Amino acid sequence: MEKTFRKQNQWDLAIVGGGAAGLAAAVSAAGAGCSVVVLEKQSRVGKKLLAAGNGRCNFSNTRTDVGRYHGNDPEFARFALTKFDCEENIRFFEEIGIPAVEEEEGRIYPLSGQAAAVVDMLRLAAESRGAKLLTDAAVSSIIPQNGGFSVRSEAGRFYAEKVIIACGGKAGSELGGCEDGYKLLAGLGHKITATAPALVKVKTDPRLPRAMKGQRVRGSVRLRRKGETVAESRGELLFTDYGLSGIALMEVSRYLCFHDPSDYTLDLDLLPAFDEEDLNEELKRRRHRLGGLILEHFLTGLIPKKVGMTVLKEALAVKLSGKCGRLSDADLSAAAHLLKNFSLPVTGTLSWRDAQVTAGGADTADFDEKTMMSRLVPGLYAAGEVLDIDGDCGGFNLQWAWSSGRLAASSVLKALEEER
Ligand SMILES: Cc1cc2nc3c(=O)[nH]c(=O)nc-3n(C[C@H](O)[C@H](O)[C@H](O)COP(=O)(O)OP(=O)(O)OC[C@H]3O[C@@H](n4cnc5c(N)ncnc54)[C@H](O)[C@@H]3O)c2cc1C
Repeated sequence: MEKTFRKQNQWDLAIVGGGAAGLAAAVSAAGAGCSVVVLEKQSRVGKKLLAAGNGRCNFSNTRTDVGRYHGNDPEFARFALTKFDCEENIRFFEEIGIPAVEEEEGRIYPLSGQAAAVVDMLRLAAESRGAKLLTDAAVSSIIPQNGGFSVRSEAGRFYAEKVIIACGGKAGSELGGCEDGYKLLAGLGHKITATAPALVKVKTDPRLPRAMKGQRVRGSVRLRRKGETVAESRGELLFTDYGLSGIALMEVSRYLCFHDPSDYTLDLDLLPAFDEEDLNEELKRRRHRLGGLILEHFLTGLIPKKVGMTVLKEALAVKLSGKCGRLSDADLSAAAHLLKNFSLPVTGTLSWRDAQVTAGGADTADFDEKTMMSRLVPGLYAAGEVLDIDGDCGGFNLQWAWSSGRLAASSVLKALEEER
């Protein structure tokens, strides 16, 4: 009986988690003389990947650099990110049928613009190389046994020489984000650092954002702590009924992790193309040109109408039913000042469901950055978001998932070869 079990369920490598890092590891290890089983908790692999980049999958960034990563020791990521850099990952995807295109700020997307294509081709590449992908197969325990591991899952018990834990983090809880990876690693003696939702929408005093709900501006944002700038970004800002969203906002949100939000404000520049003096002059020209129009149209064309109306209402003590020509110089200065310094006190962030990535995770001090193998449990590896490494917005997190997953797979292949 035991002999039959071992034959049917014995694998060189079991990968726990069929997300970005797990699938990249499976494609890399399968077909190289290594039998691979991927055990995925959800009913399909790559569920979070499908939602990446609003369904377009911003899967890498040409500006990848260790400076774009965070955690207790971001330097840990350097080796993997260098060995499997952006160019190398683009080549990897090209080989499995996904050509890439570069968009602004070095962001890399699949040419098809479809995250679903990325998931399909990763899955097909893994299966065609011989990997077995099992879904509805949540892993509940990993026990070192006979030089390998006994892996208990919803789909049965497996024996594997090597295990890669690629369970991701807590972010995106509706897409499968969970704590399982941390629990499995903690059960094997690993330390898990404090976690917090990162790259997440921010709650502010809702009064003004609510009035502009759904409006987008291309502005810049500064995150200030007690008046001091701690992060800034430029790009899309989206007003919501709780505060702010948009790529530029997400970028600075990382710096709120692990801090008391009430110390922070978001200072927006709604018209970064002008400095305040030039903007004042522009408003004077508009007063002259548009003097006969009612005030609610005064800023339309410079910024979305609803945003313009909210700014004017807040900056001026006049009704918007009056005429633009009646604005005083002081009114114009007040409007220009508010457009350049639109300050919102932070009250918090949204939670795990809305976060794109987890700050914190399995302590990297317990892993060898050159192989991704545990220093505590030989033969056990980890890759992706489950580790205490998180990247900026813009493709950096998927880049980390591919690089660390592929490094773990190549280390497994090397170790198996040496042992045989
Ligand atoms: C909405 C959204 C959009 C995003 N967009 C981008 C983007 O455009 N660019 C970018 O770089 N990053 C993006 N990210 C972040 C990126 O998707 C993640 O950082 C990346 O997927 C992490 O890869 P991973 O393999 O470590 O984890 P995941 O991709 O989360 O995969 C982990 C897998 O493990 C499975 N699992 C968990 N527990 C178990 C268990 N006990 N047994 C078996 N399986 C288990 C999960 O079901 C999951 O499928 C986005 C995230 C979200 C939530």
